[in-house]
Amino acid sequence: MQFIDLQTQRARIEADVDARIRAVLAHGRYIMGPEVAELEEQLAASVGVGHCVAVSSGTDALLVALMALDIGAGDEVITTPFTFVATAEVIALLGAVPKFVDIDPVTYNIDPSLIEAAIGPRTRAIMPVALYGQCADMDAINAIAARHGLPVIEDAAQSFGATFRGRRSGGLSTIGCTSFFPSKPLGCYGDGGACFTDDDRLATLMRQAMNHGQDKRYSHPRLGINGRLDTLQAAVLLAKLAIFDDEVERRAGVGARYTALLQAAGARSLAEARDGLLTPHIADGNTSVFAQYTVQSDDRAAAIARLDAAGIPSAVHYPIPLNRQGAYAHHCCPDCTPLADRAAARVLSLPMHPYLSADDAERVVAALTGAD
Ligand SMILES: *Cc1c(COP(=O)(O)O)cnc(C)c1O
Repeated sequence: MQFIDLQTQRARIEADVDARIRAVLAHGRYIMGPEVAELEEQLAASVGVGHCVAVSSGTDALLVALMALDIGAGDEVITTPFTFVATAEVIALLGAVPKFVDIDPVTYNIDPSLIEAAIGPRTRAIMPVALYGQCADMDAINAIAARHGLPVIEDAAQSFGATFRGRRSGGLSTIGCTSFFPSKPLGCYGDGGACFTDDDRLATLMRQAMNHGQDKRYSHPRLGINGRLDTLQAAVLLAKLAIFDDEVERRAGVGARYTALLQAAGARSLAEARDGLLTPHIADGNTSVFAQYTVQSDDRAAAIARLDAAGIPSAVHYPIPLNRQGAYAHHCCPDCTPLADRAAARVLSLPMHPYLSADDAERVVAALTGAD
């Protein structure tokens, strides 16, 4: 069994991908070719925003968003410590300071009720993450941000395709950023990402930032990076986008099956219990794309060993909160986010992809619960 099976999807879209790659090789516009603009248009429509700027990775999407907002030395950006390192990395790369706020233990996302206390005179933005594929409480976060005149950047690297109160992740705040890393819900065959916004000015600034700060050829009014998405990756994404809605449905089905099987085997929902084997809880008003299907266990090492013995891969997302990582610990208080610590010690992600069979889900649950 594979943790994420990309080959079943590959077989499904092979003809389309191959034709689109051949078309790029034929026209030869490898950088900023027509597929990039076509993809941006489709992605913006799918998220429901005015602008999409395709970029070279999810990390660069976040970096370009912060650059467009002029975030730099001495500024503070409020975010969660329970995320992939890129979220805080881009803040620190610009000389700003990540201010880590603890999580809601049920959704794993930043707890909006703790944000206001972290806002200070240097706070310049709030950066929630939609961990494992479900959005943070973006209405609550946007309301706090509006009271303080702050922009909100959603790290939607794991949640492209998810919805929050009927609206699409990525289009819920000032800027949304996503990743097309191969294992993400919408992945390409290399690195890729995108920024979304309804703000015309920010869209222009992000487009400049990802292309050497250039407004026209050899004119560079602002600092930028080489953060463009390859035309070949845009071509791959166009083929994948054509089946994406179906894949999102399949992911929801796999998630629901896991939850039903686990609860039938005695697991409880994270919404009801704090100890034991716990299934994820999708908050009211949210749909998840299950970038990860992540359970909690009192004895994670034993759970991993049981899965291993059955030939089932698993992963820990993430074992160490960022405020305990060497690169960030000096910025912050490592002991100030106990709920992130507790989650980091207990979470375990199971094999998850749109084509995971019912049999495989049963095998995973049997091995995990020791019923095999
Ligand atoms: C994957 C990921 C990123 C970074 O995306 P890349 O495309 O790998 O650069 C950022 N934030 C989160 C939460 C992620 O999961």
